[in-house]
Amino acid sequence: MQTVYNTYSLEKETFTPIQDGKVLMYLCGPTVYNYIHIGNARSTVAFDTIRKYFEWRGLEVNFVSNFTDLGDKVINQGIKEGLTEEEVADKYANAFLEDAAALNVAPATTRPRATQYMEEMVAFVEKLIAQGDAYEVNGDVYFKTNQFKNYATLSHQNMDELKKNAAGRLEDDDQDEKQDAADFALWKKEVRPDVTAWPSPWGPGRPGWHLECSVMIDELLGDTIDIHAGGIDLAFPHHTNELAQSESFHDKRFVNYWLHNGFVNVNDEKMSKSLGNFVTIHDLLQDDSIDPQGLRYFLTKTHYRRPVAYSRDRLDQAQAEMDKIYRTMRALDAKISADGDVDQAINEQVLLLEERFIQAMDDDFNVENALTVMFELLTLANKLLTSDVTPATLSKVRDVLASWLHIFGIDQFEEERELPMEAKTLLEERQAARKAKDFAKSDEIRDQLKGMGILVKDGREGQSIEWLS
Ligand SMILES: [Zn+2]
Repeated sequence: MQTVYNTYSLEKETFTPIQDGKVLMYLCGPTVYNYIHIGNARSTVAFDTIRKYFEWRGLEVNFVSNFTDLGDKVINQGIKEGLTEEEVADKYANAFLEDAAALNVAPATTRPRATQYMEEMVAFVEKLIAQGDAYEVNGDVYFKTNQFKNYATLSHQNMDELKKNAAGRLEDDDQDEKQDAADFALWKKEVRPDVTAWPSPWGPGRPGWHLECSVMIDELLGDTIDIHAGGIDLAFPHHTNELAQSESFHDKRFVNYWLHNGFVNVNDEKMSKSLGNFVTIHDLLQDDSIDPQGLRYFLTKTHYRRPVAYSRDRLDQAQAEMDKIYRTMRALDAKISADGDVDQAINEQVLLLEERFIQAMDDDFNVENALTVMFELLTLANKLLTSDVTPATLSKVRDVLASWLHIFGIDQFEEERELPMEAKTLLEERQAARKAKDFAKSDEIRDQLKGMGILVKDGREGQSIEWLS
């Protein structure tokens, strides 16, 4: 029985999808004005893992995640880089897709952009005004929060706290235009001459940020969805406002389960612009000594609701575990075939482990417990590799391991990490030394490489390398 922790109720609830065998899932995507940082990547990776677990269990997931391709961040970045808003959005949307692919994140079923839904957004606001849930002032439109019962529920704050927070956080709003401090903008007029504005009954402008997700969910998934996901910092105001406007619009429940992932801390401090400790995935992936799949594993191995503590040391520790996985999977790949029968006693053992694996993942996607079971199976595999079991038995163990690893975004087991330049030069020198039969020198270089964490082996086809963990 699948349970999920719902931020709305603050409880673990039994997950029952609206349609049998299908999951309607929405994840708030990035504003495409810069390279994504490790916190954005954590959210992307956490919900990719959850999606893949549903799929592994045989559910069909309709996974929608957006790009916010308008607004002040995009406009200002365009001014900085001498690009149009559209060029900025294209550049960083592509960069996001590249980073996500490097982290083995599956493509979304649909990846809509806010600017593709302008007419629908205007129509949505018109209906809210007609129903008396919103009002226009000087070309801006606001949502009447005090008209919506349970406005504060998802945020788990009281209205006074919300109003205090709202004043500081909603820089998009003109406080003196609003009937109530907690009201939020559905539409903002745009008067700057060089900035893109869209036509509306209230004059040229652009939608408030919260509106796009409500409208894209409405258009692509329906009135009520199973799972709405995002970082915990989005619970208020973003998701609180999405919920208020969508439920007012449809007069029915918007989301059955709200799932939020925890923060990422960098070197034990909160990541923030002012501390200058923003780590972008783009930069990490440019570093040849970082294995993208090791980075994926690092981001996945913490339960999605807990904070991830990033440091280079912790990333390297995760890589050491990743390398253990590589070694076993490669050794299995070298030995498997369909020869012989699958050993029934071992098959039983694997099935028992799989039961525990499912139990862990069914419990609000407890990746940490699931990985413990995965490492037990890995240990069993290592034992079997030195015994005389049939290749078919090894093949069975390998397939189960690979299918679990796929959930965590680990799909490739060949060596992919790029060698540092210095190591490449040393390998060339060593090859030359061996050719000249200068074995003293070749041994010396081998030791040097070992010091760099690289094990050199000599085979019939020349030297091959393996990373030491
Ligand atoms: Zn959103």
